[in-house]
Amino acid sequence: MNKTVGVLGGGQLGRMFAEAANRLNIKVLILDKENAPAKQILGTSNHIVGSFKDSHAIRQLAAECDVLTAEIEHIDTLVLEELTQSGVIFEPHWRTVATIQDKFDQKQHLKSAGIALADSISLDSGSVDELKRVAEVFDFPFMLKSRREAYDGRGNLPIMSKDDLDHGSDFCKDRKVYAERWAPFKAELAVMAVKTKDGVLSFPTVETVHENSICKLVYAPARNLSRATADKAQQLARKAVAAFEGKGVFGVEMFLLENDQLLINEIAPRPHNSGHYTIESCPISQYDAHLRAILDLPIPPSSLEMREPAVMLNILGSATGGSIDPFITAALSNPRTSIHLYGKGPATTPGRKMGHVTVTAETMAEAEQLIQPLIDVFDKHSGRKPASATPSRAKGGKEVPQIAVIMGSDSDLPTLAPGLTILDTFAIPYTVRITSAHRTPEVMASFVSTAASTGIRVIIAAAGGAAHLPGMAAAYTSLPVIGVPVKASSLDGQDSLYSIVQMPRGVPVATVAIGNSVNAALLAARILGVSDLRVRGLVEEYARKANEEVREKDKRLREGNWKSYMEKKG
Ligand code: ADP
Ligand code: MG
Repeated sequence: MNKTVGVLGGGQLGRMFAEAANRLNIKVLILDKENAPAKQILGTSNHIVGSFKDSHAIRQLAAECDVLTAEIEHIDTLVLEELTQSGVIFEPHWRTVATIQDKFDQKQHLKSAGIALADSISLDSGSVDELKRVAEVFDFPFMLKSRREAYDGRGNLPIMSKDDLDHGSDFCKDRKVYAERWAPFKAELAVMAVKTKDGVLSFPTVETVHENSICKLVYAPARNLSRATADKAQQLARKAVAAFEGKGVFGVEMFLLENDQLLINEIAPRPHNSGHYTIESCPISQYDAHLRAILDLPIPPSSLEMREPAVMLNILGSATGGSIDPFITAALSNPRTSIHLYGKGPATTPGRKMGHVTVTAETMAEAEQLIQPLIDVFDKHSGRKPASATPSRAKGGKEVPQIAVIMGSDSDLPTLAPGLTILDTFAIPYTVRITSAHRTPEVMASFVSTAASTGIRVIIAAAGGAAHLPGMAAAYTSLPVIGVPVKASSLDGQDSLYSIVQMPRGVPVATVAIGNSVNAALLAARILGVSDLRVRGLVEEYARKANEEVREKDKRLREGNWKSYMEKKG
């Protein structure tokens, strides 16, 4: 590949782009200040020293390269327009960057392409009177956003009530601002879309968690999102990106509203923080994809699918300007953790992106658990109170099963039904299988012995008569096994109970009452609840409801007498 790619901007995105290019023997030249992060890892003295807003420096870079691209949108597009007319290739198109770099123009452009997004109103002076008129249309809260040069929340000011109007008006004094309707989102999602010469592809839908308007965590794939909504988000991202000219990756930020409606928040015409996870999680990363797209190299669509779930945590400069070293020390000994440091020197600026870590695991639950100690160190380092894990927002959807419910025979299914209903109510993903310990021992052995590696965390096993299934399962796995004795045609289920409960020392099976699959499901939920705050909350809620029900019955009994109570009960 005998091409030289010039990049306007040499920050962390340029640096990771350079890593991807290095692996393909593609030469990269950077325009940015001396020793910028991207320059540090490229062995050439031909980089251009200067600003990506300086037309002279951009011309110099263009003279050395076959294709130009940018890792930041706040660049001089006028000179790019001129250069393009004289045959220089810049991707994505200069018009795309020019439209996107003014957030208001970007949103108007998306709106005219039929893309759903929060309403916006351009402002003249931003006087208090003008902001009052905005409040009449949008009500409080609404958002003031700087049209240009905004990033990491630095151009945003939420106007929560009329008390903020004076401050809002001051904010408008030295910049062009527009007002945006508040988006009452339940989650923020993002999709990296790849625009090639042939069309638009996309990476999976991820969830971003912002703190103080800066992206802190990315969960890939987005947790507990239905397959339909995840697909819808990818489609929306592809449609939005198709509205722009040029090639390359685009970061598409979205709001997911309570009713599952999606709104586009904003688009970045470049690799994006929400796509770092692709380095470890996908066969080709967002940086590989950008490179391939701008050079018309093949991108097999399946290379954008995730191999493993991931959680990414940004390493930000602390509020006190302290060193990030304690965090790095912790990350180095954390299992399954990839560390990326950006070469920005000692951390001094609060909130500055100094690096990131990505933890991958076979299941999202596992990745969440693995990264939690690092989140705790991060919170401590940045002067925050250690936060508990962000609770998952499970609402069903196609997810990796956490519980395996197995039975010896389909005649056990009616006994299991009440327990399965509980798992449905709690939106805990599970799988149900018939794996007889007697008739299909090899199927049972293979299923149970690999269960842990597929993300299963608890096994519920129901069996009747010579009820060997729970015990055999426990022998093949280190996962907790809960046995449900099923009442078979003779001996009233006592045979099943004794078979399951009488396990030899060393191979434990937690045994519930005969036919009590509800308790098996609740016990499984309690086990998951040890590390899943959402499930723990549901278990507590279940107990609270049961408590209320008994009190209510007692009240009714005390109000009437026992005979009328019995009559009503029928
Ligand atoms: P930046 O360029 O700094 O990323 P964004 O416009 O994406 O700016 O805003 C940063 C964050 O502020 C968003 O990720 C979201 O958490 C919040 N935010 C932005 N716009 C709105 C809005 N209209 N309603 C509610 N929250 C918003
Ligand atoms: Mg943003």
